[in-house]
Order: sequence, then structure tokens, then C-alpha cells
Amino acid sequence: MNFQRSKALFEEAKQFIPGGVNSPVRAFPSVFMDPLFIRKGKGSKIYDVDGNEYIDYVGSWGPLILGHAHEEVTNALKKVIDMGTSYGAPTEIETELAKLVCEAVPSVELVRMVNSGTEATMSALRLARGYTGRKMIVKFEGNYHGHSDSLLIKAGSGALTIGVPNSPGVPEDIARNTITAQYNDIEGLEDIFKEYGEQIAGVIVEPIAGNMGVVPAKQEFMDALRKITEEYGALLIIDEVMTGFRVSYNCAQSLYNVKPDITTFGKIIGGGLPVGAYGGKREIMEKVAPIGPVYQAGTLSGNPLAMTAGYVTLKILRDHPEIYEDLEKKSKRLVDGIKENAQKLGVKASFNRVGAMLSIFFTEKEVVDFKTAMSSDTNKFSIYFEEMLKSGIYLAPSQFEASFISAAHSDEDIEKTVEASFYALKKIV
Ligand code: PMP
Repeated sequence: MNFQRSKALFEEAKQFIPGGVNSPVRAFPSVFMDPLFIRKGKGSKIYDVDGNEYIDYVGSWGPLILGHAHEEVTNALKKVIDMGTSYGAPTEIETELAKLVCEAVPSVELVRMVNSGTEATMSALRLARGYTGRKMIVKFEGNYHGHSDSLLIKAGSGALTIGVPNSPGVPEDIARNTITAQYNDIEGLEDIFKEYGEQIAGVIVEPIAGNMGVVPAKQEFMDALRKITEEYGALLIIDEVMTGFRVSYNCAQSLYNVKPDITTFGKIIGGGLPVGAYGGKREIMEKVAPIGPVYQAGTLSGNPLAMTAGYVTLKILRDHPEIYEDLEKKSKRLVDGIKENAQKLGVKASFNRVGAMLSIFFTEKEVVDFKTAMSSDTNKFSIYFEEMLKSGIYLAPSQFEASFISAAHSDEDIEKTVEASFYALKKIV
């Protein structure tokens, strides 16, 4: 496999763009290779600028549940593009998409469209603070909610400490208002509420974490979150940017049967175009401008192209529930196949999967939180990643990311991937 043109383009990009990329993981910082420059995608496949073909398990980091360049989505986009790309005025399609979201997720009575997941979670926090009149936010170690100041925070030392910035540029004064707790740890959560409960505006959580690799919340943990936030008058924010319409059409909260106060969305609801959204109880959402005092706005929010891609995508998913059954079958087959290979070869690995969202961790431990995820051998992952890539399988270039299966993946794709995994795993025994 030849990556010459990708290499040349990367060198050129680095002269004009920080690190050559517009989002850090795209530079492949966690593996030994340079990134590939992609020329096009169709269905389950992507093609790089050197003409190599890959079965893609990144899917633009989650949005492409129907695969690349799905014809119904692209045809709809072609139709609307000739009518103009944005007016900064209300359009019918915004209500149509909002309606689909509210119908799919009963906890969401009103929903506001924004342009990214980061914007959605940032706005949700402002709303939680504005609504409760409190300052503090609780998040969980290993959960990622975008890069707004209040959420780019890591745990301080010691079990019960307020957060510290995990990037220069995030003021300590802001970090001090974010407490980082352990995922799936109910006792830790109770301790935090005992100490800070009256000051906590909201708790934000990935119901199935995808940003330390896939780590599902335990049912008891989600139940405890709902209970304790209610008890102390804090809001529960479920971040469904990744899980929304991915693990079920009714989103992860339906699997846990937990009703949050606010939900954040992104990825799939934009059908591959830039969209985020936050929504929730009417009484809370009515605090948002222009009907309420909590300010939030956007020049391109709800633009017709993004709304159209999201609307067509959700409508296909709503009208074809068999897609989710099919995703479940293919994803299970994929994990079972790779697991079998790992066992045959004696490779120690741990697997987490919910629907079409999965991770293989190179560790013996069951992965239930940040600490156990971090016990993975990232060196082994890098070798595995590179071998898979050379067999034409494009995975996320980090141990701590999810793989996504789309409706466009064929049984043949899955078989080919399982087979490739045997040879890739063989390199790390
Ligand atoms: N929340 C979660 C759960 C995410 O996975 C991400 C992005 N991967 C975000 C928020 C931020 O979304 P965006 O990259 O669109 O800003």
C-alpha cells in the first residue's frame, strides 16, 4: 500500500494549518503513522488520495449511521442547495427536524438547534446554571463533552477535589466550578453531593461513554444519577451527542429508562453536516432566549442544508426500525469474530459493545471506567491499528475511541474485517 500523496499533502497542510488538521485526532497522534487524506466515501468504504480503499469504521466519528453519501441524503441536499444555503430566518425544515427529535425522545419537549456537539453541551451547562442559579457542574473522568472551558477539566488529585484545567487557556477560576467524578461510582457521587450538593447546577454524563473507548454506564449508576440530582435540585444532562439515534432510535436514555432534564445531541442528527442540539423539559427550555433570559444564538444555526441532512437521516431511521436490528446483528458478529480470533491466538483483550458502537481494549481487565480503560496496552493497539489499515480496514487511530458500524456495512465487510483481525492480532502475540 502506498501513502505517498497523503504524505505530501500532510506536509503541505502543516505549513498552513496547526498540525495539518482541523481537529487533533485526525493527525493520528496516538499511532505510528501519518494520517491519510481522504478523497471520497461511498457506503461503507472510504478512498484515500493514493487510491487505496478501506472499509470505514470511523464514519466521520459517528454521524454516518447510513454510510457515506447515502443517496436519499445527497439527493435531498442537491435539491435544497439551489434554493440558497442559509437565510438567517426561520424555515419549515427546522420544525420538521425538531418534531422528529421530540417524538423520538419523550424527555425532550422543546429543542434548540446549534452547530456542533460542543455548542450543545456548552449551552446546556449555561442553561442548567441559569435555571438553578448555581455554579458547579459535575462531570465524569473519561467522558468527553466537547472543548468548552467548563468541560475541558480533569480531576484534581485526591478523591474529592474540584477540577483543574486540562488545557492551557482554561482559567482556574472556571475549572474550580467543575467537579470531576469517577464513572460508574455511586459512592463517589454521593460523597460529592454531600459536600457540594446545594451548589451543583447539573451533572453531565455520557450514558454510554465513547470517548475512553466504549464504556457503558451501569443501570444502577444511571438510576442513582437521576435520584440524587432530583434530591438536590440539580439538573441531569444526558449527553447523547454520540449515542443519540446510534444505540436506538429512542436514544440511550430509552435503554436505561432514565429521563434527564436536558439532553444534548450532535453527530447523527446532522446526517454528516454540522449540527448539534439541546433540548429538555418545556419549563427549563423556556428559560432560553428569546422567551427566557439565558442567551444563546447562532448565525448558521438551523441552516437548511444541515437540517435537511438530519431530517432525511432521522426519517429513514424512524421508518426502518429493521436498520437497528441489522446493526445489532452485524456488530455482534464482528465482535464475536474478533473475540474468537483473540482467544485462538491467546491475545488478552476486553470487548465492550452497545449496538453499533464498540471497542476492543488490549487489557485483561473488564473495562468499566477511566482507570480500567487506561490499563490498555496502547502500543499493542498501534500495531493492531496499522496492520488493520494495511489490510484495508480503517479504524479510529486511538485505543480510546469507539468503532461505528453503519447500515451500509455488508456481511462481506464484516467477514473481511474479522479475517483481517486474525492477522493483525497475530502481530501482537
Ligand atoms: N459530546 C460527546 C459525547 C462527544 O462524543 C462529542 C464529540 N465526539 C462531543 C460532545 C463534542 O461534539 P463536537 O465534536 O461536534 O463539538
